[in-house]
Amino acid sequence: MSARARLSRTVAPFRSATRTAKVLIVIGLLITFGFVLVATIGPTVAPYEATQYQVDPEDPAAGQLPRLEEPSDDHLMGTNRDGFDVLARVIGGARVAMVVVLVSTLIALLIGVPLGLLSGYRGGRLDRILVTTMDALYTFPSLLLAIVVAFLFGELFTPGVASAASAVGIVYIPQYYRVVRNHTLSVKQEPFVEGARSLGAKERTVISRYVFFNVVQSVPVIFTLNAADAVLTLASLGFLGYGVPPPAPEWGFDIQQATQDITSGVWWTTMWPGIAIILLVTGFTLVGEGLNDVVNPLLRARGLAGPKLRDVRRGALARPDAAEADDDTGSASTPRAEDPAGDPGAERPPTDGPAGAGTPGSSVTAAPPVLRVNDLRVGYRTPEGPLWAVDGVDLEVAPGEALGLVGESGCGKSSLSRALLNLMPPGGLVTGQITLAARGDGPGERELDLVGASRSELRSVRGNRASLVFQEPMTRLDPLMRVSDHFREAIRAHRPDMSKHEARELIEGSLAQMGIPRTRVDNFPHEFSGGMRQRIMLALGIVLQPQLVVADEPTTSLDVIVEAQILDILDELRRDAGVSLVMVTHNLGIVAETCDRVAVMYAGRIVEIGPVEQVFNAPAHPYTQGLLASTISLETTDLHSIGGSPPDLTSPPPGCRFAARCPAVMDRCTEVVPRLTPPEGSGRRDHGAACLLHPGSDPEPATASGQDVT
Ligand code: SF4
Repeated sequence: MSARARLSRTVAPFRSATRTAKVLIVIGLLITFGFVLVATIGPTVAPYEATQYQVDPEDPAAGQLPRLEEPSDDHLMGTNRDGFDVLARVIGGARVAMVVVLVSTLIALLIGVPLGLLSGYRGGRLDRILVTTMDALYTFPSLLLAIVVAFLFGELFTPGVASAASAVGIVYIPQYYRVVRNHTLSVKQEPFVEGARSLGAKERTVISRYVFFNVVQSVPVIFTLNAADAVLTLASLGFLGYGVPPPAPEWGFDIQQATQDITSGVWWTTMWPGIAIILLVTGFTLVGEGLNDVVNPLLRARGLAGPKLRDVRRGALARPDAAEADDDTGSASTPRAEDPAGDPGAERPPTDGPAGAGTPGSSVTAAPPVLRVNDLRVGYRTPEGPLWAVDGVDLEVAPGEALGLVGESGCGKSSLSRALLNLMPPGGLVTGQITLAARGDGPGERELDLVGASRSELRSVRGNRASLVFQEPMTRLDPLMRVSDHFREAIRAHRPDMSKHEARELIEGSLAQMGIPRTRVDNFPHEFSGGMRQRIMLALGIVLQPQLVVADEPTTSLDVIVEAQILDILDELRRDAGVSLVMVTHNLGIVAETCDRVAVMYAGRIVEIGPVEQVFNAPAHPYTQGLLASTISLETTDLHSIGGSPPDLTSPPPGCRFAARCPAVMDRCTEVVPRLTPPEGSGRRDHGAACLLHPGSDPEPATASGQDVT
């Protein structure tokens, strides 16, 4: 990227800032830089020194006598009671204030930010100790704390500017700590942080790049507001006699020395230092508020939302048929491979393999599976004990095969999809085996059990050999990072030797494959429509050509046109790149269109699995029958629903978990746990249903807890 392009990219946020933000920044910077100039070159051009006594020209014998002289040509701001030139004192006070502000805010920043980041991200005992300490400091009145610290520093070291700056800085450490810690706690739960982890980013990278860069967005505001506060604290310390010792120029001390002048009509000794304090505080505050609006793309987006929204609405009203196309893809459209037959399943791997070639849960092709899941349990710690959201699941997925996972909300689909990459939230439990087939002979390409894998092995797999594509792409993309930066993270994590040029080519190519123009790769996520963001997420998931893509509700919240585009892309991926797909969805229509096989989940278990045509045409489990009957089509005349609700998984019922809602329930359904068995008459061993209605369901005795595993 050329220097000109870099400069253009750097100043771009300032160009798109709101008018108010620009005005605030310009005024604030003018004031602040005015003081910086005064502090740096002022003392060299001032006619007097800040500590220079005035000689009375009418009474030379009096020598260096202090006196109060009104503003005049000789002394533009007059002289004070000690005979100092007030202008020189104001200039000298500006230098002291700027040094104290700089040193104190740096002290608070360098200590408070790392502590807050560490405390919030790591948690545990360190967090408790730091929270207690900082809360204790924070509850102490800040001025009182500053006085105590200034007194101690004055006793331990030489009183001066450094002691005053340190005292002021220590007062603000708890503020930085609290803001950064709280922000870290919230950012580390953000989906885009989970998204970064899912791409295999190292913990150090997650903290430094994703958490830190989001957290520090608030630092400019704290910095400038604390700078303003530091000016006031310094003045207060000086006023009370604990600041910079005299005769050094300090505005607060000078005002305190001149308090008695006010009643005697001597206004200039207090007014000029007072105005200096107000102006400097105002300058810092204006810069902070304006800067925050500029550097934070979310705030900037909010500022622009009004007019942009109006434009979009106006356009939509004028050209309702073109609104989606314009909003979604701009001038480009997603390239699509033609499917002459119009049959989404026409070019899929054969699903009608020889009956009896497999077993329920096994893949339908003869090729070794890419993914093999054995006796998988996924749980969460709760106050009532572990909650097993997935309880004893066996699966296989073949190369290029698409497996749909369906079921009601809370049936364990999303927990299973995350567990497939061992990407669990804090407190999550995974047992069993998740075996990812070897991709080559390299050390990072061999067969791997993701449950027992080390953290570094998991990082090497995520985003590289297996990807998770989340729903809600807006929350999965870091709003402060450009789209290209998201890709660079994944490439840097898994292809560290790739040159910048090659990486750029790869990024642009991946996005172009999804119909995202090359000109937009450096845009921020909020500058894309929902459909484009989801395609970006897909591109991010496949940029390194993984063996397996797990897509968790990838089309939820998208309109049907964009949904069709996403499904087409997934289909192409399987056909052209041989990528295996696990599609998590509650939409049976999507499964029918996209998948080769389907697994129906209920209360953490697979209750039916088999080829899509077989399961949908001849559902063997009452729950599958209920789900299919609940779908709505143009022919629907009566709405059907499955009565009741799924069981509480902290204490699941014994036997069949669907028994309480099953229209065909029998006495022994609560006594034994049905196994997945080929339904009688199906003639296929790759179709299985866990229901006692089918002879040979091979039941096993139920336990009291009901947590036995099929
Ligand atoms: S095992 Fe019994 S309760 Fe469960 S689905 Fe079959 S018939 Fe219904």
